[in-house]
Amino acid sequence: MTWLDEDVTAFRELARSFCEKELAPHQERWAHEKQVDRELWNKAGDVGLLCLSIPEQFGGGGGTFAHEAVLLQEQARAGDDAWGVAVHNGIVAHYINAYGTTEQKQRWLPKMASGELVAAIAMTEPGTGSDLQGIKTKAIRTGDNYVIDGAKTFITNGAQAGLIIVAAKTNPEEKAAGVSLVVVETEGTEGFRRGRVLDKVGMKGQDTAELFFDNVTVPAENLLGGVEGQGFIQLMQQLPQERLVIAVSAVAAMDLAVQLTIQYTKERTAFGRPLFGFQNTKFVLAEAATEVAVSQAFLDQCITRHLKGELDVTGAAMVKMWTTERLGKVADNCLQLFGGYGYMNEYPIAKAWTSARVQRIFGGTTEIMKEIIARTL
Ligand SMILES: Cc1cc2nc3c(=O)[nH]c(=O)nc-3n(C[C@H](O)[C@H](O)[C@H](O)COP(=O)(O)OP(=O)(O)OC[C@H]3O[C@@H](n4cnc5c(N)ncnc54)[C@H](O)[C@@H]3O)c2cc1C
Repeated sequence: MTWLDEDVTAFRELARSFCEKELAPHQERWAHEKQVDRELWNKAGDVGLLCLSIPEQFGGGGGTFAHEAVLLQEQARAGDDAWGVAVHNGIVAHYINAYGTTEQKQRWLPKMASGELVAAIAMTEPGTGSDLQGIKTKAIRTGDNYVIDGAKTFITNGAQAGLIIVAAKTNPEEKAAGVSLVVVETEGTEGFRRGRVLDKVGMKGQDTAELFFDNVTVPAENLLGGVEGQGFIQLMQQLPQERLVIAVSAVAAMDLAVQLTIQYTKERTAFGRPLFGFQNTKFVLAEAATEVAVSQAFLDQCITRHLKGELDVTGAAMVKMWTTERLGKVADNCLQLFGGYGYMNEYPIAKAWTSARVQRIFGGTTEIMKEIIARTL
């Protein structure tokens, strides 16, 4: 893999030991509590795992997307689907780094790198997800402030977030041109309220919450980038990385599902021989291993392009669609080989299967990926 140089490979050791020690043992409890321990973020900050690809001058690790990818691979390898680090590191930090003024970067990024602030991005609303231009949340300039009104749902890290990038209309008369990104620091902010941590089919330990903004007043300098009406363009520019982040996790999860199934089918017997001895088992796993290899090759190509700044919106849509659809198929076929045990929550394959389902929905659905790809045909 061309993007895995010596430095990134050495970093993998740190990421692996952290994920094995700090993530793997807590899965059941986090699933029950519907969120990770808040201190996890501070622990990750202490060992330098937050804001990996943000410049050191803003408290980050000074690395590249390759470091982010390795952390996500190790997270998946450890069987964790709870920690919302992909959103914090791979998405929110990059919005601030790309569009924030120097003052904004100095204000927020070091706190995100230490774990003092957990970050979220709130685009989706109860009434609109795929059609982002249709958001109803408003952020109206009033003197030196913005006053935000509206509701968001399905927000990753929503319950723990201390910093939320809110997509809102600064000009409600306009569609895309009226959208801006406004940063809300939640602590002590009047009118901001968190709703339920939602009860999901899978990714049960991941904090996914409803958020309410009722006359929330933030200073005008919290407008990301300082110019109104740029939000939609900012979102579109960052989506390739967001989708690549999902693809990295999808391929790693697919690989884990195959490894778990190989191990299980070699141990479990039926009709006097290991399940792996049946031709069907071998064929299913041979196909699944090939799906992983092909997906990994395409993903590697996309990561390499992204590191050179060459991954376009279409390429990102293709890799997101391809890898998440394959993951769905592979996880389902692997689960089948576990028989009834595959349907039991205590078996990691069950978690792999339920977690897989949402990958085709968040970050833009498969149908929206197809729309994007088709536009270039
Ligand atoms: C676990 C989880 C975490 C999430 N985290 C976040 C987060 O951190 N921040 C955030 O802002 N959002 C988040 N989301 C929201 C997610 O991005 C949206 O759910 C997703 O974009 C789909 O929007 P929707 O749910 O409103 O579905 P809808 O937009 O209502 O879509 C419903 C169906 O219609 C299809 N459809 C819609 N438009 C078209 C079209 N033009 N052509 C063909 N088919 C179409 C869709 O593909 C889908 O199948 C999260 C969601 C989940 C489940």
